Amino acid sequence: MEKFNYSDERFADLQMLRYRLKGFEQLSLQQKRYIYYLAEATLCGRDITFDQFGKYNLRIRKMLEAVYENGVKEASDEQAQALKVYLKRLWFSNGIHHHYGGDKFKPEFTPNYLKEQLIAAGMGNEIEQIERDIFPVIFDPERFPKRVNKADGQDIVATSAVNYYENVTQQEAENFYAAMSQEGDNCQPSWGLNSKLVKKDGQLVEQKWTASDLYAPAIQQIIGWLNKAMQVAENEQQRKIISLLIDYYRTGDLKTFDEYSIEWLKDTEGMVDFINGFIEVYEDPIGLKGSWEGLVEYKDLEATRRTKTISDNAQWFEDHSPVDERFKKKTVKGVTANVICAAMLGGDEYPSSAIGINLPNADWIRAQHGSKSVTIGNLTEAYNQAAKGNGFNDEFVIDAETRALLDQYDDQADDLHTDLHECLGHGSGQLLPGTDPNALGAYASVIEEARADLFALYYMADDKMLELNLLPSPDAYKAEYYSYLMVGLLTQYVRIKPGHQIEEAHMRNRALIARWAYEHADGAIELKKIDGKTYVAVNDYARLRGVFADLLCLIQRIKSEGDYETARQLVENYGVKIDSELHKEVLERYEKLHLAPYKGFINPWLKPKTDTEGNLIDVEVDYTESYDHQMLRYSRDYGFLI
Ligand code: ZN
Repeated sequence: MEKFNYSDERFADLQMLRYRLKGFEQLSLQQKRYIYYLAEATLCGRDITFDQFGKYNLRIRKMLEAVYENGVKEASDEQAQALKVYLKRLWFSNGIHHHYGGDKFKPEFTPNYLKEQLIAAGMGNEIEQIERDIFPVIFDPERFPKRVNKADGQDIVATSAVNYYENVTQQEAENFYAAMSQEGDNCQPSWGLNSKLVKKDGQLVEQKWTASDLYAPAIQQIIGWLNKAMQVAENEQQRKIISLLIDYYRTGDLKTFDEYSIEWLKDTEGMVDFINGFIEVYEDPIGLKGSWEGLVEYKDLEATRRTKTISDNAQWFEDHSPVDERFKKKTVKGVTANVICAAMLGGDEYPSSAIGINLPNADWIRAQHGSKSVTIGNLTEAYNQAAKGNGFNDEFVIDAETRALLDQYDDQADDLHTDLHECLGHGSGQLLPGTDPNALGAYASVIEEARADLFALYYMADDKMLELNLLPSPDAYKAEYYSYLMVGLLTQYVRIKPGHQIEEAHMRNRALIARWAYEHADGAIELKKIDGKTYVAVNDYARLRGVFADLLCLIQRIKSEGDYETARQLVENYGVKIDSELHKEVLERYEKLHLAPYKGFINPWLKPKTDTEGNLIDVEVDYTESYDHQMLRYSRDYGFLI
């Protein structure tokens, strides 16, 4: 396979990555067309997200893009550099606030510089109005300082920059939606999800985001592409789903959206799936309004084969596990995890994206109809590949031999570890009759994660992995063992601030397993100091497997018997505290690597190939487009709201 560039440019605190559409060429023409039309629908909503995240975002984007193309792009002086970085950050965040922290960007160029550039770009006749209305939004730190204000005791609706409410106080908004809710009805729509709430002439009114109201030009385009997609859908259920979504976009009826969500859950057969709409409510200070997002995805057949193989053999794994016979399930059923490839990211999922998605969000639908959960394998792959050669392993892995082991097997072994954890680990074992399922209280989640991890660690090293063709070599598991211990004993400290302890359940679990193993391994694991730096050394991998087996037996006993006291001791002794000297050392070593804390993705450019009659006969995937070219192209071709 030719070399694929997973990493692209870096600016501010951001690193741009690329993801690969694994297996796209093997899809049928119909599936490719389906993906292409859905991808266009995904890109058509981009301006909606910009406008939702701040009333002036689109206006500012348009101004800055004009000066960028009018010469700032080529200029190299300090002011020009600062403006370029500002625009790239604005593209990344869908607005003028940080995508993660929510604080407004501080421009490093002067108002005067921007004014000159605007005039040079032909905006001289509106410059006074721009200076009056727009400059404070960019330059005044007091104006819209936060995208979402969460400060206790303030009116978080009135003081947040998001464009979900206008002239409305928090109290008014809360009362408005409380009045909609009908007591005793357990199947209510998510009131407020798809509208802006404004006060006009003293009256509160909802302006709906539909094909005929707010955002109509963008939503009509989305509907146009959804209509094309419907014609090449893989099955009847997909056609039904798209038709409901179009209805919802036309009417804004939230009951239709719920109906759509329920039908969406039922399509598990198709290769291709998608999300397109007002989904997550994190950006609304009171958690009602959905930010627009889009995602097109198709099944990762290789990964799905892996999880199916594991699930099909679930009983064998249960029967051969080292835990006490009394704690084993007589019949166990594995779960097939759905691993997907993203084919296009849009709106609130672009460029910064989740790597796992679980929808729908409505609690009553989840309770009555379940949910669909996916992990996005090709985004994880991009993160992993991009991390290679960034200096991290050179700094923290003990020697060249171990680094080579990790380079060769770590990704594959890590994927398999995740699959074993999800498909078998959580589902294995049983409580003894009479054990209270809530007996472990606050320690339950750490113990449960440890149980699933240990089940996976134990089996990684089993010959069964080779027999089932899940690992390529008898050495592959060692890569996972080493990196697991390195993270648990050292490198996960980089995510913890000085003076703090370990809080998060998955991190506590890793620390617990790694440190317990370290103490019980009779020298099979060492922490070695070389030139003042601490490294993990594994001297005996086979012995280590035995240690993991012992801890799995102990953790399973705790779970099966509901032994709260032992759970508490294990977690408190091994999972919480940090050696402050070691913590300091790890933070200093990490700091020197200058790694970007946040990452996002440049989309592939899906290019339609047509015959002489204009029929779509193939879709080419182009990975060469630069970040700024993509952003400018999107603004030009999908800029429906300005
Ligand atoms: Zn888990």
